[in-house]
This record gives sequence, structure tokens and C-alpha cells, in this order.
Amino acid sequence: MTEIEYKIYIDDVIRRVETARLKVSPHHIVKIVAISKYSTADEIEKLYKIGQRAYGENKVQDLKEKSKELEELPLEWHFVGNLQKNKINNLLDINPTLFQGLDSLELAQELQKKLQARDMTLNALLQINSAKEESKHGFMPEVACGMYARIQKECPNIHLKGVMSIGAHTQDKEIIKKSFETTYTIYKQLQGATICSMGMSEDFELAIECGSNMVRLGSIMFNK
Ligand SMILES: *Cc1c(COP(=O)(O)O)cnc(C)c1O
Repeated sequence: MTEIEYKIYIDDVIRRVETARLKVSPHHIVKIVAISKYSTADEIEKLYKIGQRAYGENKVQDLKEKSKELEELPLEWHFVGNLQKNKINNLLDINPTLFQGLDSLELAQELQKKLQARDMTLNALLQINSAKEESKHGFMPEVACGMYARIQKECPNIHLKGVMSIGAHTQDKEIIKKSFETTYTIYKQLQGATICSMGMSEDFELAIECGSNMVRLGSIMFNK
């Protein structure tokens, strides 16, 4: 695609986000995080030129390489993947804007230790396994609120900002919707939470209508 064609293409994505958010309320603002895991630094730069500032990766190594390659640009980087304990130091070296996948108490405790040793803090979202899928990481809905409070108390260097969830893996819209509603209900119960991250290329409009205020769009943002 030429730059003009790409601009027209992106306009359409943004219009879809806009239409969905206006169905919720004129005051419901949704942030787009462009997930660049299938894309090169050149492609990220193209999207940056149109105005996109927030990007996310799901592998620490890729996050490191791309953020380094693009360090001259004023971008913010999110980590949206599963964080293995032996990669914590690598992630903290990058100092991402937001870690979107805090999915276990052990990981929180390990992160807390390393953050404290470095005298730094990390913004994070609690990941919820809202459809209780075997294949997914995250806290079960029943324990999410309790764990959120416990991590806030026991891990002062982790600054929890809200929740993140991946919609149920099915074609059945009602089941996907339920999984978003489950996450949103948890989000509303949390003291001081401001981010409800849910919705990807295939289901972002539904997620926004269920209350999401942060969508993680990969393939659709890069026209893959
Ligand atoms: C890859 C990924 C996305 C984006 O997926 P698309 O379907 O390409 O929009 C969003 N969130 C997470 C956690 C991902 O791993």
C-alpha cells in the first residue's frame, strides 16, 4: 500500500473504534495500542507517521529489539505477553509503559523483589482468564478482586492500573460477550482502576461496547 492508501485504510479502523465508543457514551474514550508482533520497525514507523504512538509486543526479545531500533521516536511500549520469570530482568531493562499480563501471584512476588532491588516501579494490568480457558493465562474471575487487592498491598513497586483479558476463543458472539462482561464487572469493582484492556482485531467493537477503554489491535492496524 502507498502511504495515502494506508491512511485511508487506517481511517476506517479508527472510524470503527469511534462508532463503537460513541454507542457507550460521548465521554467514553478508547486508546488503541498497536500490537506490532507481526510487523517490522519500518511498518511501525509508517503507522507512527499517521499518528499512532502506543505499541505492544508479546515477546521480551522483540520488544527489546524494536524499541531499541525505534528509540529516536517518542513511542510508548507495552508488553502484552506471558512473562517468564527468567525474562523479568530483560523486561525491566526496557522499562515499558505498561505490563499488560500480570497473571500469577508468584510472578507478582518475583517482580516485586526485582523492582525493589532496582528501586523502580512498573505499571501493570492484572490478566483475567474470563472464559476460564485451559489454554489461557490469568486469574480466574472468582479470585481476581482479592488478588488485585493483595498484590496492591504486598507488592508496592507494582502499580496496578486495571485489568486485561483476551475474549473467549469461539465464534459464538454471545460467549465472547459474556467473557468481556465478566472482565468489565471485575474492573468496576476495583478501587482506583482506570484501564480495562480488552478487544483485538476480531472482536474490538464488541469489547468496546462492553466497556473496554483500551484495545490491542495487531493484524488490523498493520493490514495483515
Ligand atoms: C497478538 C495479540 C493481540 C493482537 O492480536 P490481533 O488479533 O492481531 O489484533 C492482542 N493481545 C495480545 C495479548 C496478543 O498476543
